Amino acid sequence: MAEGDLVLMGPPGSGKGTQSRRMVDELGFVQLATGDLFRAHLSQGTELGKLAQTYMSKGQYVPDDITVKMVRERLADIPRKTRIAFDGFPRTVAQAQALDRLLKECGRSLAAVLLLDVPRDELLKRLGTRATCSRCQTVYSLAVRPPKVPGVCDHCGGPVSATARSDESPEVVKKRLEVYETETRPVIEYYEKRGVLQRVSGVGTMDEIGARLTMLLDRRKAARAAK
Ligand code: AMP
Repeated sequence: MAEGDLVLMGPPGSGKGTQSRRMVDELGFVQLATGDLFRAHLSQGTELGKLAQTYMSKGQYVPDDITVKMVRERLADIPRKTRIAFDGFPRTVAQAQALDRLLKECGRSLAAVLLLDVPRDELLKRLGTRATCSRCQTVYSLAVRPPKVPGVCDHCGGPVSATARSDESPEVVKKRLEVYETETRPVIEYYEKRGVLQRVSGVGTMDEIGARLTMLLDRRKAARAAK
């Protein structure tokens, strides 16, 4: 596989969290998920967590300066040789530019940006019926992709229950999809122009989508080796 870090992009409900966790388990990446970091701050009761929640609960993005500062701090703890799967970051062009600077500062590079494509109808179905494993955080959709054994995680055998995420009410979900269109679409164009963006269908089982991503990374590695 080509060296360097990866960015996993996609609208809310596209499965980027699930797939980046898979990359951690199967390919040795470290996941850097800004949504998870904000939720961890919130459950620890930090000022940052409380501030982030005021935006998250409305389906808005946390301001760039706060988000980038948190990412910079997390990056400082990750050894340079460990590859990172960025999940949910960058979400704005300013964050994408900041990521370029941060990676350079740390002597890191971006291998690819993978975009999970999922039709809007399917996203709405998935987001309305989300369930999460409380042990490994794998996300399921009870309507579209339930665990094979009800209530039991396919991945680690942990308990799976309906997610009580405060940002998953129908109004907030709608807002999150709108914000994605206005703020994050331009990031797709930003990476497309650089020639690093790869689109992958995010429809199918977790394993099917995972296999597509792995194949794509292998192809990129082969192409690099042939150069
Ligand atoms: P996620 O778990 O990635 O769906 O993120 C949940 C929420 O956290 C988002 O709806 C935003 O409010 C906030 N958030 C996560 N990542 C970012 C980011 N890169 N920039 C701004 N806000 C973010």
